[in-house]
Amino acid sequence: LARQEHTSRVRNHHPKEEASAAHRLEIASRLPRAHQNGEFSLHYQPKYVVSDERPLVSAEALIRWQQPDESWISPSDFIPVAEATGFIAPLGRWALREACRQTKHWQDLGYPRIVISVNISPRQFELDQVDHMIQETLQETRLDPHWLAIEITEGLLVQNSAAVAETLNRIRQLGVSIAIDDFGKGFSSLAYLGTFEPHALKIDQAFIADMLKNPKYYAIVAATINMAHDLDMNVVAEGVETEAQWNALEALHCDVAQGYLRGRPVPADVFESTHLAPNRKIVPLGSSPK
Ligand code: C2E
Ligand code: MG
Ligand code: MG
Ligand code: MG
Repeated sequence: LARQEHTSRVRNHHPKEEASAAHRLEIASRLPRAHQNGEFSLHYQPKYVVSDERPLVSAEALIRWQQPDESWISPSDFIPVAEATGFIAPLGRWALREACRQTKHWQDLGYPRIVISVNISPRQFELDQVDHMIQETLQETRLDPHWLAIEITEGLLVQNSAAVAETLNRIRQLGVSIAIDDFGKGFSSLAYLGTFEPHALKIDQAFIADMLKNPKYYAIVAATINMAHDLDMNVVAEGVETEAQWNALEALHCDVAQGYLRGRPVPADVFESTHLAPNRKIVPLGSSPK
């Protein structure tokens, strides 16, 4: 598995392997101080439209933890721990705010506008009033809700909780869009798609990785794209690593692609120079656009 670009040393040798119990305890005890010390940052991964022009449409904000000795701890190690201890609440609030602040800043600099996607874990819906949190954050950062999307997982929806449904409806009413992350990975029923009407489905990267190796995976990807379009949802393919995958997804009319082929998650300044600046159209401040 490819590791993130800026990795110098990584504590866990096998990314798929879960952190050991001792390591999880150590992580749990270090999270609050690490946050105070500013050890967390966001990286941004581009999402491009799958078309001939291939415009940039969006970026996903992904949290990163770099310790003072410069080693990195993977989100797949610390996010589950933060969920277990409840620390995901302040950490997630910070990530949302930082992503909105950065996106508004890019808009103010005159870059082409993109949607920012922020992951919200199911635990945050238990611990926080996520709709209020989003509304306050948008007001504080002055980001127009149209430019924010949240990524949630199927697991949140299959619980079929009335409280979650209400919260998601209020989020939608703010003008924020909702995407289902890692679609197809869980064991959930599809029934929630008929009631929640998410704006987008993100096909889990496992399907994309195997779609050209296994005709059954190809069929699943094709069927997912058709189903999503029939339900008026957009489809994002996650983990697109090769031109061949891109071309296959284009033939299947997939809307948007995200993956190492077009860009890894990178710090804000690198995202700006690599993905925003090539298309740079400066709207002079004080003049009206168009
Ligand atoms: P996710 O939301 O499904 O994010 C996609 C993951 O796939 C990211 O892993 C990204 O770096 C990786 N990825 C993107 N393109 C490719 C590719 O082409 N090939 C491969 N092999 N991988 C690719 P990352 O950054 O390690 O994040 C892991 C998970 O941690 C995320 O999965 C998300 O569930 C969680 N996470 C990250 N940031 C946050 C956050 O701010 N809040 C919450 N609640 N969860 C977060
Ligand atoms: Mg995501
Ligand atoms: Mg995902
Ligand atoms: Mg995931």
